[in-house]
Amino acid sequence: MPQLSPRITTLNGDGSDGWEVFYKARQMKAQGIPITELTIGEHDIGTDASILAAMDAAATGGHTGYAMVPGIRALREEVARRITTRTGVATAPGNILITPGGQAALFAAHMAVLTPGNAALYIDPYYATYPGTIRAASGTPVAVPTKAADDFLPTFEQIDSAARATQARSLLVNTPNNPTGTVYPRETLDQIARACIANDLWLISDEVYDTQVWEGDHLSPRALPGMAERTLTIGSMSKSHAMTGSRIGWIAGPEEAITRLIDLATNTTYGVPGYIQDAALFALTAGPDLERQIAEPFRRRRTLALDILAQQNTVTVIPSRGAMYLMLDIRATGLSGEAFAHKLLDTHHIAVMPGESFGQSAAGHLRIALTTADDRLSEAVRTLCRFAADLAEA
Ligand code: PLP
Repeated sequence: MPQLSPRITTLNGDGSDGWEVFYKARQMKAQGIPITELTIGEHDIGTDASILAAMDAAATGGHTGYAMVPGIRALREEVARRITTRTGVATAPGNILITPGGQAALFAAHMAVLTPGNAALYIDPYYATYPGTIRAASGTPVAVPTKAADDFLPTFEQIDSAARATQARSLLVNTPNNPTGTVYPRETLDQIARACIANDLWLISDEVYDTQVWEGDHLSPRALPGMAERTLTIGSMSKSHAMTGSRIGWIAGPEEAITRLIDLATNTTYGVPGYIQDAALFALTAGPDLERQIAEPFRRRRTLALDILAQQNTVTVIPSRGAMYLMLDIRATGLSGEAFAHKLLDTHHIAVMPGESFGQSAAGHLRIALTTADDRLSEAVRTLCRFAADLAEA
């Protein structure tokens, strides 16, 4: 076989990716061992029947040919309207590119702003694909570490010094955050904006969890002074409408950037299937009640889990104000997140993600996804706490 490009052979970086526990759990499950999985960010419900009916009507009605590459006009208009209403930033259809999911949008956004070799910053802890996405776009990923003691919120100084040291071109942030559940407050976003302007960075703002906010409000950094012209916002129907498998999302940004991104889409994805776009349009126009209904189980389970966690003092919770996850500090047990997660899986058949899967800043932590039925989740959190207490005493 001729040589493959280093672009793909080095995509995952070096060494362990911290996902061994996840794969081990899947293997145990395949062997018939009942596992409580608190691992991945996928709803435990399917896409709503009304959305599927709209998809079916669109497909059987004939919307199965090549669709408009930037997205159908009505959907671009609806996404633009939604962003204008929710963020206060005047947004037109020309500011929107419809993409096959948030992940494709993250890749395209980095392709749009990086010259090969440019440093691209991202905040650690981070969503697992971030460094690989940057490498795929021929950039050099640079993690900006944050501290558990600061609730993993980045500061101006951390971003500014990383940007200066590497001559970075872009910064990727994610609020509400996966894996930590933090929702960046205004003062953090102000610091991010200041660092972007001071270092002439593009901001790539991943807001795929914008409908899952349990305390406070989601603020889009694109709305801050001077930021609309340097921000590419990533949106998705995956989390807001339980449409993970439909692969539909968007990028919002300056019209000139979107025009160039349409050229990229023409030469890569060639758009998103028309019947999926029609279903997304139906889902968005169904209004906030449907979104609230989809987010509700996570809100409820977060409260259930926090109540159980409040009754003990071995495991500490990072203040989780959004997204479908809780980040737990288990450093009192003396174990790494990875060692704890393996022991918990082996002993109690409960699978959680070690913090280390999301970067070194989250070492000694665990991420639990609130994607399991209430009773089973409560039981698993109780078991986890007892297990942690026993380990801490041993
Ligand atoms: N960004 C974050 C922070 C995520 O957690 C995910 C999925 O888990 C994505 C982006 C990608 O989502 P999708 O490609 O399904 O829109």
